[in-house]
Amino acid sequence: MAIQILPPQLANQIAAGEVVERPASVVKELVENCLDAGATKIDIEVEKGGSKALIVRDNGKGIAKSELELALARHATSKVASLADLESILSFGFRGEALASISSVSRLTLSSRQQDASEAWQAYAEGRDMAVKVQPTAHPVGTTVEVVDLFFNTPARRRFLRADKTEFTHIEEQLKRIALAKEEIHFSLRHNDKLVRQYRPARNDRQRQQRLASICGSAFADRAFMLRSSNDDLALTGFLALDDDKARVSEVQYFYVNGRVVRDKLVNHAVRQALEEAGVAQAAGFVLYLTVDPHEVDVNVHPAKHEVRFHQARYVHDFILTALQQGLSQRTSLLNDEPAL
Ligand code: ADP
Ligand code: MG
Repeated sequence: MAIQILPPQLANQIAAGEVVERPASVVKELVENCLDAGATKIDIEVEKGGSKALIVRDNGKGIAKSELELALARHATSKVASLADLESILSFGFRGEALASISSVSRLTLSSRQQDASEAWQAYAEGRDMAVKVQPTAHPVGTTVEVVDLFFNTPARRRFLRADKTEFTHIEEQLKRIALAKEEIHFSLRHNDKLVRQYRPARNDRQRQQRLASICGSAFADRAFMLRSSNDDLALTGFLALDDDKARVSEVQYFYVNGRVVRDKLVNHAVRQALEEAGVAQAAGFVLYLTVDPHEVDVNVHPAKHEVRFHQARYVHDFILTALQQGLSQRTSLLNDEPAL
């Protein structure tokens, strides 16, 4: 075969292979877009584990009619315009790939209305075979993305979907991770018309405890103590809880870097070392939030953005270690300032 440029739909489907693994990855991308749009309320509806339909509604700033079609195009983003932007990224999105990818493997409807717009508009794309259609619709300020028949035109992918229940469990897990990062946002999740999760905004420590309990379980929330540590460059806050005879809470392990959940060996190592040095025999669960100058961390390592690279890995590791050691030695439970033990 001679060298040829791939047709756009095929290029998008290949890109979708990286970003859109299963319904839960669609939920992740769509919800992150809501957050980037400044939404405070995000409602998710799922039908049949997401393989039939996935609907995500937000009350964010919306998309202008003139940009609806562009929003579905590949490499179209309102979040990065230069390499400098990319090096100091704070938004979740920056690749401009999610909507293009998802719309290339589903029937996607994007409905939106901006604050000052007199009308709402809707764009529809079906596997991106046909041109995007834009028409008026009824919609409050904000955006709704409806993804129907995911992978209908990529049978190999569709075959990889698991039972509805399994796919839905992945969606719930995805939502947990995001809800833990954004305590001020109201989330709801429905499956087959039934309300399954509802996370209310937390504005004080009591509400924080309730939200932590509804997301991570009350066993974790009841045992959790708070950490708060910072220096000129870094800050670490969050919760740590230890396993005991009555409950195993060490399965709860979430680590965030600038609001983005990551898996990082460095973090697990610091946690293990802190426990060891403190002479704690049990394993620990944690929900930790690291804040770092975005210039000091590279998030553009993997399309799904689960990995990060710290420019000063050793320094970050040692900071986390010290913060955990302090936390362990001063253990204060969430609801009162008295030592938990
Ligand atoms: P990225 O998030 O990387 O920019 P996406 O394909 O996810 O790429 O989205 C493309 C663009 O569409 C975004 O940059 C944004 O301008 C717009 N957009 C997508 N979802 C929403 C939403 N829920 N509210 C407002 N704008 C949105
Ligand atoms: Mg996005």
